[in-house]
Amino acid sequence: MIIKHREKPMKIEGYEALLKRISPTHPKRATVKNSLNNAKAGYGGEERLDEALEFFDPPYPHRIIQDFSLGEGFKIQVDTVVLTQSCVFLLEIKNIAGKLEFKQNPSALHSISATGEIKSYKSPIAQMNETALRMSKFLKTLGCPLPVANVIIIAHPSQIVEGAPPNVRVLAAGEVNVHLSEMKLPAPVLSIEELHQLGSRLVVTHKEYQPFPLAPKFQIDPSEIETGVFCPRCILGKMERTQRAWECETCRLVSQDAHAAALQDWFMLIKSTINTAECRDFIGLKSLDAAKRFLIRSGCQPVGGRRYRQYIRQPQEK
Ligand SMILES: [Zn+2]
Repeated sequence: MIIKHREKPMKIEGYEALLKRISPTHPKRATVKNSLNNAKAGYGGEERLDEALEFFDPPYPHRIIQDFSLGEGFKIQVDTVVLTQSCVFLLEIKNIAGKLEFKQNPSALHSISATGEIKSYKSPIAQMNETALRMSKFLKTLGCPLPVANVIIIAHPSQIVEGAPPNVRVLAAGEVNVHLSEMKLPAPVLSIEELHQLGSRLVVTHKEYQPFPLAPKFQIDPSEIETGVFCPRCILGKMERTQRAWECETCRLVSQDAHAAALQDWFMLIKSTINTAECRDFIGLKSLDAAKRFLIRSGCQPVGGRRYRQYIRQPQEK
């Protein structure tokens, strides 16, 4: 039973917003594009994993948490966690094209494209071993003694994989369901009730990975970020403020709330706070009063004294 479902990672939207707002010739453009492609491939792989487990119905009680992360203290990110009464499985899917080779001493994963181009990635084995250690430690803090096992999954169905160490299980996505379902699990350590409680505790403790703001991460100065409201229909068209609404200079779409997305872009790209002057200038509003009204209406919360008042985005209700 799935007790937490995966959502599209926020960083994909963030990278897209950043690409939209930096110049076509910006020197960091290729790096941002690369991050966007990796994020999309990662999410694509995770969706493959969800599909592969769509009909997962093993003979043992279980709980599934899609996309589990813990912040400071443990720093864990796992694609899917399967909790059982006797152990915990951490599933990690790799969606990397080309022939894959696991390298040792030091460990890495190489992908070799059809043209012979080699790319090197952090070893998913080393990464998963580290994650399993942290997960065990975290489970101990909950008073839960379950052992933790890793499963690495390859998203591409007919991929050639070489050099996987014998003690590591590397599966194709299509094998995961049968492999986990037919596994002989050790004797239960937890009661059903305790398994359910553990699932709920993990869901409550899950802390969404927060990648923002992105501009400083790419060392892009805020002055290089284009301001203004973009058209939601033709994407690159800019919108002008008319008496009561926003109108696209290119396709003439009229929108009441196109500026809400621009405010979201600010928080994703520049910083987690905004003051009325920044809001007025970034969005292109006429006055500080208009900016203040807009920020309050958008559900932003004022913080700090009157003179240096900033606004923060209202934490989203889960
Ligand atoms: Zn337009």
